[in-house]
Amino acid sequence: MSIQIPRLDSRNPDFSAQLEQLLAWHEAFDDNVHRTVVEILKSVRREGDAAVLDYTRRFDRLEAASVAELELDAARQELALATIPAEQRQALEAAAARIRTYAEHQKLTSWEYRDERGNRLGQKITPLDRVGLYVPGGKAAYPSSVLMNAIPARVAGVGELVMTVPTPDGEINDLVLAAARIAGVDRIFRIGGAQAVAALAYGTETIPQVNKIVGPGNIYVATAKKLVFGQVGIDMIAGPSEILIIADGSTDPDWIAMDLFSQAEHDEDAQAILLCPDPAYLDRVAASIEKLLPTLERREVIAASLQKRGALIQVQNLQEACAIANRIAPEHLELSVAEPEALLLEIRHAGAVFMGPYTAEALGDYCAGPNHVLPTSGTARFSSPLGVYDFQKRTSVIECTEDGASPLAETAKVLAEGEGLTAHARSAGYRIRHET
Ligand code: NAD
Repeated sequence: MSIQIPRLDSRNPDFSAQLEQLLAWHEAFDDNVHRTVVEILKSVRREGDAAVLDYTRRFDRLEAASVAELELDAARQELALATIPAEQRQALEAAAARIRTYAEHQKLTSWEYRDERGNRLGQKITPLDRVGLYVPGGKAAYPSSVLMNAIPARVAGVGELVMTVPTPDGEINDLVLAAARIAGVDRIFRIGGAQAVAALAYGTETIPQVNKIVGPGNIYVATAKKLVFGQVGIDMIAGPSEILIIADGSTDPDWIAMDLFSQAEHDEDAQAILLCPDPAYLDRVAASIEKLLPTLERREVIAASLQKRGALIQVQNLQEACAIANRIAPEHLELSVAEPEALLLEIRHAGAVFMGPYTAEALGDYCAGPNHVLPTSGTARFSSPLGVYDFQKRTSVIECTEDGASPLAETAKVLAEGEGLTAHARSAGYRIRHET
C-alpha cells in the first residue's frame, strides 16, 4: 500500500497557516449525545440502582437482578490474576513497581513556616477520601491505563478506589481485572458509559459516591464527566493522542517510522509529526514508512491517521524545531537526536519528553515510570501529566500568636473598612493589641 503523508517546509511563506490547519482539532459536540447523557444522569440521580441496571441491560446487554450482582469481588480479581499468562502477570507487576516508584517521588508533603512575630503559616496535604476510576470496555480495554490511573491514587493515600468497567455481553477482560488487583483497586462494578459516571458522581444504593472521577472513555463518558464536574472533580477530557518527533538524522529511520506508527495506530484522529532539518533524511523516513506499514496489523488506521493528520516537516535547524514544538505543545515529544540535553533546555510546552534514540515513547506508555495520562491538543501549555498531586488536596493553615495577630489586624481593618465590610473590620479590630 502506498501512502501520501503531507510534506511541509518551514521556509514556505504559508507554513504558519499550514501548521495551524494541521493542528486544528475541534472536539466533536453532538447535540443528540448531550441530550442522551443528560437524560441518563437525571435517571440515575432519581432512581439509583434501578436506572443503572436498566441502562446496563440496554447498552451492554447484561442482565442482573441487582447492582450487587455486578460487583466483582476480591476472589474474582484473584482468579483473574491466576488465569492470565505468567509472562503478562510479571510484565504488569514490573510496570506497576516502576510506576509506583515514580509516583512516590511526586508526592506533595505538608509544609509550614513562622514569620518574624511567630505566626505559623502552612499548607496541609490530605488525600481524597474516595476516587472513581472509569475503565473503558469493549474495543479499547487497556490494562496499562488501569495501572497509570490507580497507582498514583494509591500512593497519594486515597481512602477507597472504586472502579467501573462495562462488560458488553457479559465478557470480562481478565487482564484489566488483574491490573486492577495489582494496582490495589478496592471495588469493581461491571457498569459503563454515562450511567457509570452518574453512579460515581451521585452515588446509588449500592455504588458509593466519589470525590473525583478519572479515566478515559468514549463520547458518552466524556460528556458525562463534563456535566458532573462541580459535583465531583474530574481529571481531564483527553483529545486524540499525539507524537511530535524532532530528529537530527542520526537515528535509524525505521525506528522513527515505527515511533510515528505507534501513535497513529491508536485511531484515525491521532497525530504523528516529524521535524528534521535534513530533507534527505525525511526521504529515508518516508521510504521506511512505505516499507514497514504493510507489516502492521493496524495499517489501515495508521495510513488514515498519517494522511489526515500526520506530516513530515523540513525545518531550518533544530532550534527552529524546538520553537515549533513549543507552539504545538505536544502530548509526547521525542528528541531523537545525538545531544537531546541541549534541546531540552529550549522545550517549555510538552506533556512528556523522550530523550535520545533509545527512549521510544512506547516505553513511557507502559513501564518507564512517568504517567501516560498526558495533556493533549495543546493543553500542555497550561496543564500537566496525571500524577499523585491530582489525588491530593491542599488546605491552608494559619495560626496567629497574640503578638503576631495585632499588626495583621491593623492591616485587615483598614482594608475591610475600604471594602465597606464592617463586621470584618470589627472582628479584626478585636485582635489589635492596645498598649496599656
Ligand atoms: P467505553 O467504556 O468508553 O464506552 C462504552 C459505554 O458507552 C457502554 O457501556 C454504553 O453505556 C455507552 N454507550 C454506547 N453507545 C451508547 C448509546 N448509543 N447511548 C448511550 N450510551 C452508549 O468503551 P468504548 O466505546 O470501547 O470506547 C473507549 C474509548 O476510550 C475510545 O474512544 C478510546 O479512544 C478511549 N480510550 C482512550 C484512552 C486514552 O488514554 N486517551 C485509553 C483508552 C481508551
